[in-house]
Amino acid sequence: MDNSRKMNMTYQAQQRIEHLLTPDQAAALLQYVEIRILDGGCNHTHRYTQAWLDENIDFMKHEEVLCELENMGGYCDCEVVKNCFEDYNL
Ligand SMILES: [Zn+2]
Repeated sequence: MDNSRKMNMTYQAQQRIEHLLTPDQAAALLQYVEIRILDGGCNHTHRYTQAWLDENIDFMKHEEVLCELENMGGYCDCEVVKNCFEDYNL
């Protein structure tokens, strides 16, 4: 691999701060979960997050999305609402 190609790939890697959810999807998810927590509370699982994923996201991606949320500190529904909006730039 020549040098210019290597530099180009490094550049692309740095540019790819990419989330699995689009900003629109992330906003919809957080809104959905927040409303349901107000009603039903958080039981320290991703039950509402999971319910939203079931309706909106391809089943194959659920695990990756949950993993991404946990990396942002969203280990349960209330933490998803509290901790993830900044990372998604909402
Ligand atoms: Zn919680």
